[in-house]
Amino acid sequence: MTPFRYSRAADAADALREGAAGARYLGGGTNLVDLMRETIERPAVLVDVTGLDAGISDNEDGGLRIGAAVRNSALAADRRVRSGYPLLTRAIVAGASAQIRNMATVGGNLLQRTRCTYFYDNQGSACNKRIPRQGCDARGGFHRYHAILGASEQCIATHPSDMAVALAALGAIVHLQGRGGERSIPLTDLHRLPGARPDVETLLEPGELITAIELPPLPFARNSTYRKVRDRSSYAFALISVAAALEIEDGRVAGVRLALGGVAHKPWRAAKAEAALIGQTATEDSFRAAADVELADAVPLPLNAFKIELAKRTIAVVLRELAASEGRP
Ligand code: SF4
Repeated sequence: MTPFRYSRAADAADALREGAAGARYLGGGTNLVDLMRETIERPAVLVDVTGLDAGISDNEDGGLRIGAAVRNSALAADRRVRSGYPLLTRAIVAGASAQIRNMATVGGNLLQRTRCTYFYDNQGSACNKRIPRQGCDARGGFHRYHAILGASEQCIATHPSDMAVALAALGAIVHLQGRGGERSIPLTDLHRLPGARPDVETLLEPGELITAIELPPLPFARNSTYRKVRDRSSYAFALISVAAALEIEDGRVAGVRLALGGVAHKPWRAAKAEAALIGQTATEDSFRAAADVELADAVPLPLNAFKIELAKRTIAVVLRELAASEGRP
């Protein structure tokens, strides 16, 4: 590990001062410290932001405001989240281990980096994300976990967060603070697709700090879930995951939210499938047809082609289960 200076931010202004001078923000450290140990990241200064906003509060509009320093386990356990946004609780609990969830923060979870094994192998593998224009060894290598939507010639990595997939489905808003003041962006705009610059992963400006996440009110999110398909039942990243919420009126889809994990460089809001479902009869055929629409643009590689059918089946199963549970207390 390369030597670095550590400090603890007293408040957001303190953190932003350090950030403007080039410091990296440190949440639970569950990914950044690993990257530093492997010398993939070498920040000269770490500013610990875990003492900043760690509260969850009710918004006047009926939604929730979640401080960026809230621990993943605290968010998953919150009574309002469990009852009003159960897909978020399920997504968080599906991720990592209890120990890691106790450490990881909401802000840090969003900014964790891909677990592509070639990205972590800085001794022998070519990786455009680590070193621009070096090449991508995953393309011709073991790419079972890699992207089938929105990838580029330069990078086929996936975003590893489960929590972010649920937040994408919920239409969460990310609050930011930086040199230019405060701004808010949809969570679905926070992460970039890789394009020609896979090393640039978010739309954050240098030194910009995630201060909070906002969940808009979404009454039908009470009927929601998160399904993660993985190679083993615990402590594994998603091959495919589906976050979904469903509302049915008179046998037809009146409201639906869908997002996919394990398929792209960012949490993938399945907007085409949502549009295809609204007004349709809530049947397995409609669910499957919407999944077909969403996956029509998928571009697989030899070892991850199975993900297309897996994603379609998982979407259909999850929606079928939500249709069956709709209206139940
Ligand atoms: Fe690097 Fe992306 Fe290729 Fe993985 S998929 S080796 S992260 S460029």
